[in-house]
Amino acid sequence: MALDKFKDECAVFAVFGHPEAANLAYLGLYSLQHRGQEASGIVSSDETKHHAEIGMGHVSEVFNESNILQLKGKMAIGHNRYSTHGRSQLKNAQPMAIEYARGPLALAHNGNLVNADVVRQRLEEEGSIFRSTMDSEVIIHLIAKSKKSRFQDQVTEALSQLEGAYSLALMGASEMIIARDPHGFRPLAMGTLGAGYVFASETCAFDLIGAKYIRDVAPGELVVVNNEGLFSYFPFEARKKNHCVFEYIYFARPDSNIFGKSVHNVRKKFGRKLAHEKPVEADMVIPVPDSGVVAALGYAEESGIPFETGIIRNHYVGRTFIEPTQSIRHFGVKIKHNAVKEAIKGNRVVVVDDSIVRGTTSRKIIKMIREAGAKEVHMRISSPPTTHSCFYGIDTPSRSELIGSTYSVEDIAEYLDADTLAYLSIEAMMDALEDRKEDFCKACFDGNYIVPPVYAESQLTLLEKRLAEDEEIDYDRAPATRKTATAK
Ligand code: AMP
Repeated sequence: MALDKFKDECAVFAVFGHPEAANLAYLGLYSLQHRGQEASGIVSSDETKHHAEIGMGHVSEVFNESNILQLKGKMAIGHNRYSTHGRSQLKNAQPMAIEYARGPLALAHNGNLVNADVVRQRLEEEGSIFRSTMDSEVIIHLIAKSKKSRFQDQVTEALSQLEGAYSLALMGASEMIIARDPHGFRPLAMGTLGAGYVFASETCAFDLIGAKYIRDVAPGELVVVNNEGLFSYFPFEARKKNHCVFEYIYFARPDSNIFGKSVHNVRKKFGRKLAHEKPVEADMVIPVPDSGVVAALGYAEESGIPFETGIIRNHYVGRTFIEPTQSIRHFGVKIKHNAVKEAIKGNRVVVVDDSIVRGTTSRKIIKMIREAGAKEVHMRISSPPTTHSCFYGIDTPSRSELIGSTYSVEDIAEYLDADTLAYLSIEAMMDALEDRKEDFCKACFDGNYIVPPVYAESQLTLLEKRLAEDEEIDYDRAPATRKTATAK
């Protein structure tokens, strides 16, 4: 069985009851572009049939005036896909649109189903034929196989067999179902626009289209929207909330409100706490743009060290991780950032970034800052060392590639060639979440996976097998293979 890497961080958008549904979905996806740049798609419904436009690339590359015009109807769902190691294939783009016995069905999914492989294997043994390598496709098969007559009961039956993360938009001919897994791993917001309803991974999408935010879709909630109105159901047993803290650290846009808090405020607090916890004498604080900007502002404010834009980012290059191969990724880092020599020369610099994954970015940045004439380079990271892979939808490489899983902070500092390196502690990070700290998943920092590890492990085995088959990892460049460093 050919499996794709079950790790996608994506954007979901949905509109119900608006004459400009497809246009709104297009705009919504535009503002959610940061959540996925590999592929984009919109499926609309005119109550009898679905119309789809799905393609590889950015929103601006996939859609144009004429193809949006073809997307008729007052309801639409949209999706941006973010994938890294997995094959960049159109068959894995979403929304996934099919015809089944009860009519048209389309799905847009953000998150990662940790038992998708097990369910898929069972379904294949029973004769199901899969057309993609996405975990999301099992949802479609389970809905199609359900004997229930109401759409919402089919969806409930399907989702009750699945574990892991899903923020989901499903669309039939004239009805839409929006669902969020009982742990609430990924964000999902609900709003109104005129007489219609809108749903989006992040609230920044509402700002662009002038929609009014009402509330988040609650963990475990199924929202049914049809011509009779909007109905909310909680068909699953309540579970401990487990929102992804990495959304605040890196993924979500600072102008969004997710999990009940402003991303900007939380991110800035991470920076403030970092300054308090890991101070250093220096002349300036410079962020690694864009991901380190808000935390660096917090660091500068708390420490009293002036903030300086010492690195400029070329915005026309995709995010580091988007490139499908290691060699392109390294090239990407080089063309993405440039130092402002006049600002840096002769100064002691604190460089703030949100996270270190493999260490590639930080190493290049520090080299660049030294070449620009910095006297000292102190690296500060506004999250704890990433030591474990995420199974719930954030793309992280396998554990062995995470520099923080194998090496001590001192060894990483040496590898990066930083005068000092310090991370935010797990405790300080959780403190920044105040009264909500119990509601968050931090498995990428402590390996505490709330969804039974049996799923995660089987998933990992399959992932590693597939990675070994499909990919050539450039081990020469991965610091984890340095023979001289001491393992933690
Ligand atoms: P690395 O060069 O492998 O250490 O990656 C670190 C850089 O990647 C940091 O600048 C982060 O902002 C960024 N980053 C962290 N997590 C992710 C992710 N899941 N996807 C894409 N980029 C990320």
